Amino acid sequence: MQNYNYPNELGFFGDHGGLYVSETLIAALTELKQAYAEAKADPSFWAQYHSDLKYYVGRPSPVYHAERLSRYLGGAQIYLKREDLNHSGAHKINNTIGQALLAKRMGKKRVIAETGAGQHGVASATVAARFGMDCTVYMGTEDIQRQAPNVYRMKLLGAQVVGVDSGSKTLKDAMNEAMREWVARVDDTFYIIGTAAGPMPYPAMVRDFQCVIGNEAKIQMPELIGRQPDVAVACVGGGSNAIGLFYPYINEMSTRLVGVEAGGHGLNGHEHAAPITSGSPMGVLHGFRSYLMQDEHGQVSSTHSVSAGLDYPGVGPEHSFLHDIGRVDYTAVGDEAALEAFHLLCHQEGIIPALESSHAVAWAVANAPKMGKDEVILVNLSGRGDKDINTVAKLDGITL
Ligand SMILES: *Cc1c(COP(=O)(O)O)cnc(C)c1O
Repeated sequence: MQNYNYPNELGFFGDHGGLYVSETLIAALTELKQAYAEAKADPSFWAQYHSDLKYYVGRPSPVYHAERLSRYLGGAQIYLKREDLNHSGAHKINNTIGQALLAKRMGKKRVIAETGAGQHGVASATVAARFGMDCTVYMGTEDIQRQAPNVYRMKLLGAQVVGVDSGSKTLKDAMNEAMREWVARVDDTFYIIGTAAGPMPYPAMVRDFQCVIGNEAKIQMPELIGRQPDVAVACVGGGSNAIGLFYPYINEMSTRLVGVEAGGHGLNGHEHAAPITSGSPMGVLHGFRSYLMQDEHGQVSSTHSVSAGLDYPGVGPEHSFLHDIGRVDYTAVGDEAALEAFHLLCHQEGIIPALESSHAVAWAVANAPKMGKDEVILVNLSGRGDKDINTVAKLDGITL
């Protein structure tokens, strides 16, 4: 992987990515691409970004040796990259800080965002308050019903939440609406996309902001174990926490990289959210080309996962490329195994993980016993599970 240098000038990672938007959005995306290229080359931009990550978010996040869990499983040593300890509870803030700083630099006074479960909406509302910008979050009305606490959190933080009543009334429709709104008010508005997807330049820009995860881990692992881990594993929804961990390791060929998609109720039917693993043909959604869950007529299929953050029919284009070239192994973990891993981490380590992150933990739970005691798995613990306790309680037949 010596010459890994993607995306190309047109925003493609091999066959994936690009810019598939209406003409009205081209100007906005070209302006954004230019502004980000200038910011990326400006050390003062990164100084501000790292200062905010240190004093506001609480970085670097520690790497923790899950000794009891490792002993319980009886194989490889499991280490956790603790993104759950970040301010606002997940990795998402690494990206919203970066994009909000860019919005400020571009003179935009208003940010908009799409959200599904509400995590990205909360992370966007958080940074909008931090930087004194107006914030509007688009959310499907179905999701507004299901995620009332996060809707209220966004309002507490001063954001306006706009219900989207079209299509399946969920994330995919919220993203369409946010793009429409951006076209209408591009002069004063910055669109903060929540994962490493969307049209160029978003996938690479979000990756750059999330790379802090892998860059820190690359320094922390040698301090802890004298070398890099044998495996680094992360859950994949749109793919931002995973690419943030993987990207700095792409040339580190002794570290196997594993991306875990949501297997839902199983890969045979449609009740999953595993566009790479389930081998769906390529499609275009939300301005980029990538593996996509679609039916025989090319329509985007509905998806299912117990974790709302993984419940997305597409996947960031760089993951599709890393799958094509074989650098990252993608697999799927179902609802049941993720829930088992959730409870196991609670009991063995006193850590309540996000249901999304529990998919990555579940991979370690299944594979550590097959590995030697001197081997090491690094799990990206992308977020904390406080937001998920109602879901878990309900599945356990308990009403809170
Ligand atoms: C949103 C979310 C995810 C999924 O998003 P990616 O872009 O794939 O990282 C994973 N974990 C947590 C905790 C999330 O909030």
